[in-house]
Amino acid sequence: MESIRDIFITGYGPSSSHTIAPGKAVEYLLRKYPHIDRAEVTLFGSLALTGKGHGTDDIIRKVFGDIPCEVKTNLDEVKDHINTMEFTLFIGEKTVRETIVSIGGGSILTEEGKGKKNEDVYPFHTLHDILRHCIDNKVDLGDYVIEKEGKDILPYMEEVLRVMDNNVREGLQKEGYLPASFKIKRRAKAIYEESKSKEESAEYEVMATSIAVAEENAAGAIVSTAPTCGSCGVIPGVICYLRKRGIDDRKIVKGLCVAGLIGKIIKTNATVSGAVGGCQAEIGSATSMASAMISYCFDKPIKTVAQAAEIALEHSLGLTCDPVGGYVLIPCIERNAIYAVKAINCARLSAFTNPDESKVHFDEIVETMYQTGLDMNQGYKETSTKGMSKLNIC
Ligand code: SF4
Repeated sequence: MESIRDIFITGYGPSSSHTIAPGKAVEYLLRKYPHIDRAEVTLFGSLALTGKGHGTDDIIRKVFGDIPCEVKTNLDEVKDHINTMEFTLFIGEKTVRETIVSIGGGSILTEEGKGKKNEDVYPFHTLHDILRHCIDNKVDLGDYVIEKEGKDILPYMEEVLRVMDNNVREGLQKEGYLPASFKIKRRAKAIYEESKSKEESAEYEVMATSIAVAEENAAGAIVSTAPTCGSCGVIPGVICYLRKRGIDDRKIVKGLCVAGLIGKIIKTNATVSGAVGGCQAEIGSATSMASAMISYCFDKPIKTVAQAAEIALEHSLGLTCDPVGGYVLIPCIERNAIYAVKAINCARLSAFTNPDESKVHFDEIVETMYQTGLDMNQGYKETSTKGMSKLNIC
């Protein structure tokens, strides 16, 4: 299995697959062809259906900079992957065509990258095998990640934490409306201020924190995927909880390594893309990562950490992606807050579950989530053509 670093990618929100990946695709083309005169881009599938609300066209033009660029959509043709982009580049007398796919969580697949793999960092790709190795060799799960990734994974995660903290700080200060064709107000600041007078203040604070980050993402700020932009508020919410419970940042950084490992196993064996697997693949994966992180930070046994990840993913199965108007606003923002609290409860529940007697294991539930996602009607996978997206909101 490859490095966990692509689980936490920093870039412009609101969508890893619809803004970060298209931005990366243009950067790749600018590197490969430094003398482009003009570009035409055609978006297919989910990118065509929800690209406008997600700001795909804006980010493509922004990264092309001074190079004139026309962005079109094609809803008639069905490509092998739901998030396909076709670029036509005019370079002097030459015309070059490139197809690039946004494969989820901000990652792209280029034509020259097809069939090639990055170097494997881990000899295993299931949690079962990783646990067996760690138990046999008495290795802590966070230390296992550091051993395989190298010590520079720690400054990498410290930077991820800094980006998340910055989003929390900014998001908790701002008021007013978020950018969309319908009016939706920011609520993080109000919830945070209200939390101080509430008996269950910690839970309110967790929700305010998650909403602050999700609102910053919806506004197009620079965020860190975790594992996607749409689900980027879940982990910051649980970090707020961990700090309130006295966990220091050194441990939180190692907890991010464990969360990244869980996310990477899901991305390798299934998907973290809402367009491929529905929201269970995005928010479900984020909740699974967050729950394992909590369990790890509280020094629970390694099998309990795995159980926390399993419970959280199990109880996210079937979650659909039907964002209203194609914006990462409804249901996405509230969903981050609700699932951050859920991650805490899943970690609590795992502590009362004997992993040796458990009937369901993490790797099985990853496979189940993937199959459920493949079976899910495409209208519920980031196309804004069914479900909540049909609500008449103005
Ligand atoms: S509904 Fe879930 S998967 Fe879909 S855009 Fe929102 S957060 Fe992402």
